[in-house]
Amino acid sequence: MLEYSPLHELKRREAALKIINSKVKEDRSNLYDLTGLSGGFPVKQEDINLLETYAGPAIFEEKLQPLGVKHLGGEKVLALNRTSSGILATILALVKPGRKVVHFLPQLPTHPSIPRSVDLVNGNYIEFTDTDEFKVTEKTDLVIITGSTMDHQVITEEDFLKIIEVSGNVPVLVDDASGARLRTIVYKQPRAIDMGADLVITSTDKLMDGPRGGLMSGEAELIDLIKTKSHQFGLEAQPPLIAGMVGALENFKPDRILESRFKKQEVYQALLEDFSVEETPTGVMILPENVIKELKGKGMDTPLNEDVAATVLAMILLREYSIITIPAVGMPGASPTIRIDMASKDAERLEVEYITQAFKGSFARLEEVAGDEETCKTILFG
Ligand SMILES: *Cc1c(COP(=O)(O)O)cnc(C)c1O
Repeated sequence: MLEYSPLHELKRREAALKIINSKVKEDRSNLYDLTGLSGGFPVKQEDINLLETYAGPAIFEEKLQPLGVKHLGGEKVLALNRTSSGILATILALVKPGRKVVHFLPQLPTHPSIPRSVDLVNGNYIEFTDTDEFKVTEKTDLVIITGSTMDHQVITEEDFLKIIEVSGNVPVLVDDASGARLRTIVYKQPRAIDMGADLVITSTDKLMDGPRGGLMSGEAELIDLIKTKSHQFGLEAQPPLIAGMVGALENFKPDRILESRFKKQEVYQALLEDFSVEETPTGVMILPENVIKELKGKGMDTPLNEDVAATVLAMILLREYSIITIPAVGMPGASPTIRIDMASKDAERLEVEYITQAFKGSFARLEEVAGDEETCKTILFG
């Protein structure tokens, strides 16, 4: 039986990268990265000579400070290797063994970095998706709010404010990996800090063309504690990453996110004719449970579980249609939901027709192979 283990995920990711490698060697323009994480490394020629251990931070941390505060609010900015690193550093700094971390998110699943980090400090992790049930106790060291989930489910402003109120004096960290853009630009909500959060972290490659990295801001005193931990455990961003973040924030244009919503509507309407697709703020997604439902609806009897089936579909999209989605390239623990983001840079080059044909063709192929585990293994792992 094909299972969905971290080791399998790693092997699948390696297979996906190999396919991408051979496609890119032919021609980068044949590849369509629709993950919304296409990132980039916008550093200027004159910056490259400054990418040194001490000169680098001296220059780029200073440049990052006002740009980060403008984007996120807060008093002091901290650059981390990834959003996950920032979450870990915060939990290491603020949560004592046996104490609680209470997480509110609009919808499951949770980003795995949160429960895993709490586990490392022997804390207790509790999560809520209903504000009426949410509570903190004497034992709570940290509240985390996810502003926008991995599947781009966005918290309402009302729920956000309610959690802030219920949290009282407990520090609140907002995981706004994509939310710092989706919530504010698409949903016109205030920045997390402006709604009373103490700390916020965002990913500089989600809905902006920056490198994969975590940009945190908040109360200076808390940031200093977290920064200390980040240095102790090597979680901080290195100079090249900080330089990339500076360039990304300088170049950031909210308009592409707003414009992508029109093309998204076209894709959504076209796919809706054949699939149980759902809208996200800037794209569409097919949930793993709906991949299985579609297969069963067509009378298929498949031994695959829903996460594996979705991943096979993502690998077919990559192999046969050169479309990159997260379930193909994601790291262990990434969401198996097939999501395409029309705010991705590569989406600009794609016709709606190509996308619908790619989904139809890939699904037809999945139907052919879903009963045959050996073929699925070859599709997943090469
Ligand atoms: C992407 C994401 C993260 C983690 O970002 P990494 O760059 O993978 O560390 C954490 N939380 C949420 C909600 C995310 O969407």
